Amino acid sequence: MIPESVKIVEVGPRDGLQNESRVLPVPERIRLVQGLTGAGLKQIEAGSFVRPDLLPQVSDTDQVLSGLNLDAEVGYPVLVPNMRGLESALSAGAREIAVFAAASETFSQKNINCSISESIRRFSEVAKTAIDQGLKVRGYISCVLGCPYAGAISPEKVLYVAGALEDIGCYEISLGDTIGIGTPIATRVLIDTITPHIPVGRLAVHFHDTYGQALANILVALQAGISVVDSSVAGLGGCPYAPGASGNVATEDVVYMLDGMSIHHGIDLGRLIAIGRSICSLLDRPVMSKVNRATPIDFEV
Ligand code: MG
Repeated sequence: MIPESVKIVEVGPRDGLQNESRVLPVPERIRLVQGLTGAGLKQIEAGSFVRPDLLPQVSDTDQVLSGLNLDAEVGYPVLVPNMRGLESALSAGAREIAVFAAASETFSQKNINCSISESIRRFSEVAKTAIDQGLKVRGYISCVLGCPYAGAISPEKVLYVAGALEDIGCYEISLGDTIGIGTPIATRVLIDTITPHIPVGRLAVHFHDTYGQALANILVALQAGISVVDSSVAGLGGCPYAPGASGNVATEDVVYMLDGMSIHHGIDLGRLIAIGRSICSLLDRPVMSKVNRATPIDFEV
């Protein structure tokens, strides 16, 4: 049941950076994405087309895309919140976008000022237009194992949102534990609720390590046959609901665990460690990856 190979979706350059206090200039963001490509990542979230005043950390994503030496074998999804964002993404030459919905009504209202069903309606137009233009569309669901405002979230609610994202054309649905609150049993129950209705091959997992549960939860997801894992180099990105806490699970830590399980991933851990150290030094923040911290040798990026 455990997959022989796993695809890691590197979310550091978007999900990671957007939760950092320091804003990296465009050339450094380009260098980050190029470095990650060089380390073997095949799916790298390159930025976002949300309003720049809301998230200056990921503004000017058009310049990031145009500055990249795009690799035909690499996907560079960009987050798109609405039709205006899609138009910008299309003008910038994006080949893949990501849309997002919450599994919590309260979170949806607070995050994007509309209900879950309104958000799905909005994204259905975005997804249809994108697909008509030949783009791939990935879907994120936030708060799948708990909401910072509403607490517990039922797996059935997550299933409903996942089904809606599948219906609007998302080729993959990433289950996001936005506040990192989930434990392995809850993860198992969630996946067991969804997989009778949505093929396991269309699911990805997106864990945060806020409560130290991410790798345990990823292991459960792998045991359930999920073979796509979102992670962020050096654990970039904190938790907006718990200042100072860990954010996204670190790519280095996921890669190390996959190595220990002889699961193929195609990533050069040494290069990844070097990138993690370099980006954290630019951001003036500690490396959150335990594997990175434990590795004594300095690598060249
Ligand atoms: Mg995240």
